Amino acid sequence: MTAREIAAQVRSGERSAREIVDEHLVSIELLEPEIHACNLILVEEARAQADAVDAARARGDELGPLAGVPIALKDNLCTHHVPTTCSSRILADWRPPYDATVVTKLREAGAVFVAKTNLDEFAMGSSTENSAFGPTHNPWDVTRVPGGSSGGSAAAVAAGYAPLALGSDTGGSIRQPAALCGVVGVKPTYGRVSRYGLVAFASSLDQIGPFASDVEDAALLLETMWGHDPCDSTSIDSTPEPIRPALLDGVEGLRVGIIDELAGPDGFQPEVLAALDRATTVLEAAGAKVDHVGVPSAAYGLSAYYLIAPAEASSNLARYDGVRYGLRVPADGVAEMNAATRDVGFGAEVKRRIMLGTYALSAGYYDAYYGQAQRVRTLIIRDFERAYEQFDVLLSPTSPTTAFPLGAKAGDPLAMYLSDVCTIPTNLAGAPAMSIPAGLDAEGLPIGIQVLAPVLGEAVMFRAAAALERGLEFTARPKLLEAR
Ligand code: GLN
Repeated sequence: MTAREIAAQVRSGERSAREIVDEHLVSIELLEPEIHACNLILVEEARAQADAVDAARARGDELGPLAGVPIALKDNLCTHHVPTTCSSRILADWRPPYDATVVTKLREAGAVFVAKTNLDEFAMGSSTENSAFGPTHNPWDVTRVPGGSSGGSAAAVAAGYAPLALGSDTGGSIRQPAALCGVVGVKPTYGRVSRYGLVAFASSLDQIGPFASDVEDAALLLETMWGHDPCDSTSIDSTPEPIRPALLDGVEGLRVGIIDELAGPDGFQPEVLAALDRATTVLEAAGAKVDHVGVPSAAYGLSAYYLIAPAEASSNLARYDGVRYGLRVPADGVAEMNAATRDVGFGAEVKRRIMLGTYALSAGYYDAYYGQAQRVRTLIIRDFERAYEQFDVLLSPTSPTTAFPLGAKAGDPLAMYLSDVCTIPTNLAGAPAMSIPAGLDAEGLPIGIQVLAPVLGEAVMFRAAAALERGLEFTARPKLLEAR
């Protein structure tokens, strides 16, 4: 069921919020041993929130747009007094003293938080295997990864734990798991959604966004949580143009560019490229003008990202010192305690990023690595600007492949980093992009297509995605759910 349907049922009194949340909690309990999408299931909290919605309705109060709708939250979003671990040992048992702005907004909208979801530690990864609490399994095939880093949120929506979830996307962490789990995932324009209360990975790239089972639900969730926030100095100080009124306007005359650099043949699964062709056909049939476009510097996005993101991470993660948050490993002397805590508290990938970032920022290397990466970032911004002089939206695969087997890339960081080749350039440009399901490969695994738009172009991006969704008619569901 969609979030819209649930909200309508609760509003009309057809079903209570309590009934709905209990139904979802049963699904979670049933499937969680196989999927492990959650770090924490919020049974009591969710029931209390649902009861509050039902009580508000009984009093005749105005209900929020998401009243009674279950939502799963990535476990790097601060929740007041509720553990927020980032799937790291270093934050185990840490309870934030405040809610993230998005959490506050969803509370006010009447949403019901059912779980904190698993992720790659501090959102660093593409498979959710870097979690200190063990990997999440893909609901379409539990021997495969769900993608990452928001793998828990993507799997939660795919498995029906909740119709909606929140993730964060620094280099693809919403879109890539959305693609691998057959759901919709959106990375908004940088600054559109407040980052206040999102545990920082790479602050110039991080952005919170929605997961949903269809485009309209994703729009509903995004519209509920975006907008200016004085608590985030990078938050855009303007009122966003609403998405949903134009969702059904179609794509007649829309100029769509296929990004040559992000469409194989090297490293791209042929079925993924075939899905891109199908998407092209659908848009053309709906009246769009589709052509190829070059974004030459996009090919260097990955290299620039893996200097910029670790550089920012090495600075952001300096705060985990055994004094201020979570874990402390005692040792003689403060520096020894800091070192022992970080040694035990961080996993291998986080340590790799901190070392990479510290090196890239160090005296003598700063200009050659960090400085050079920033110059590439500028080129990418300009290349996209040039592409958008000719096109309204751009199109590419979301991920070069469908879900790979658990363990397949865990020992090979470079192979893992390559999963993000299509998603990273948009983060560097600060622009929005979203993934929608476009079919299944021969093994029955979902394929995602990415729609990209210029900065603040959410409305046109969603309009194109909605047209694609109507034409592609993706209705498959994981077998795991059909058996039930
Ligand atoms: N997979 C990419 C990384 O490991 C992106 C992660 C993200 O978007 N948080 O950095």
